[in-house]
Amino acid sequence: MLPVQLIRKKRDGGALEDAEIHAFIAAVTDGSLPDYQVAAMLMAIFFQGLDSRELTAWADAMTRSGDVIDLSRISRAKIDKHSTGGVGDKISIPLAPAVAACGVAVPMVSGRGLGHTGGTLDKLESIPGFRIDLSVERFAAQVDELGVCLIGQTQRIAPADKRLYALRDVTATVESLPLIASSIMSKKLAEGIDGLVIDCKVGRGAFMKTIERARELCGLMRAIGLRAGKRVTCVLTEMTAPIGRTIGNALEIRESIEVLRGGGPSDTRELTHVLGAEMLVLGGAARDPADGRARIERVLADGSALEVFRKVVAAQGGDPRVCDSPGSVLPRPIHRDELALRPGRVMAIDSEALGIAALLLGAGRRTTDDKIDPAAGLVVDAYLGELIEPGAPPQVILCHGLTPGDGRLAEARAMIEGAFVIQPADHPYAEPATSRILEVIR
Ligand code: URA
Repeated sequence: MLPVQLIRKKRDGGALEDAEIHAFIAAVTDGSLPDYQVAAMLMAIFFQGLDSRELTAWADAMTRSGDVIDLSRISRAKIDKHSTGGVGDKISIPLAPAVAACGVAVPMVSGRGLGHTGGTLDKLESIPGFRIDLSVERFAAQVDELGVCLIGQTQRIAPADKRLYALRDVTATVESLPLIASSIMSKKLAEGIDGLVIDCKVGRGAFMKTIERARELCGLMRAIGLRAGKRVTCVLTEMTAPIGRTIGNALEIRESIEVLRGGGPSDTRELTHVLGAEMLVLGGAARDPADGRARIERVLADGSALEVFRKVVAAQGGDPRVCDSPGSVLPRPIHRDELALRPGRVMAIDSEALGIAALLLGAGRRTTDDKIDPAAGLVVDAYLGELIEPGAPPQVILCHGLTPGDGRLAEARAMIEGAFVIQPADHPYAEPATSRILEVIR
């Protein structure tokens, strides 16, 4: 069929045949289909959706649009984690070595940050010398030897997604659940994994604003995984306030090392424990989530997770002394300005606004070729429900290299002040939940 006939079929609510889907994605990948026809198909899918057979074929065609890494010679179970993204989300960094220390291999292919959420690769690259551009062969060899390797997406992994995502971004078709599910799953299935744990963020600071929509997305991602013979567990986690106390690349590495040393903020630890436990269950290294959690807590407390991380840093060209003395190895900001919030009860924190403030300070990119300042970001020491007393020490530290007159600095300060909803101390309020875990779908 001609592309225009396929577009018309989908536009009118028809179901595409598997062969038609594979031909369409092949033409997306080799560039023979013009942008306007790809975009028209995306809009047709946005309105008409894909049924479960079509979704499977669409995700499969995207996965096979590039290389599927073969890790079959590694006898250990190979389990990855994917997060739909949140401000301050550094969980992959303590999680991957902790899971590997428990005997499950973690082949992790991560992305860069764009907009207000950071990317694991940018965080890792703040460690001097750390390389994320390893060959697929070296990636496989390191997963075999150390149980974990953290690299960036290569041009060869799901190239169809790169083109489709760029077009979705400019045609208002990002927010389609089958397109999101197939985009995420195609990249993960190409990693050669046996199973996947998905941290699906829910809330004002997340892609999925409601739990109902998050459940729907997770259902689609699980269906794609299960039909490809992979086990998929989804953990729905609350995402309004930022995760942990730091936003920004080197700052988040420092906080991750605190977690690898058995410390760190309680929410960051909890996410590491819970996601790690689910990965161990999928990988057959724990009887149940409680057993998995105990194992993860043990390797964080006894230093074995930190030892794995040290080896990974050294193997990937980074300075392993970062594990002992992060403050002297990681880049330091030129300026550290303090900001005191007004007294009262913290009723809400807008993590997106804080993410944008960190970006303005240099921690993130607005466009794919923006340069980032690895030392820039925010340390935020204010919690939901906290009562800020008059005269309390400043709660936010702005780390940056901007000159005092730079307009971005004033803009960042205004964003931070606006990000905190603060009410008088006697204002009625409900005690915030102590856990970020909303639901686990196994
Ligand atoms: N992340 C992805 O990788 N793809 C999407 O479509 C949305 C989020």
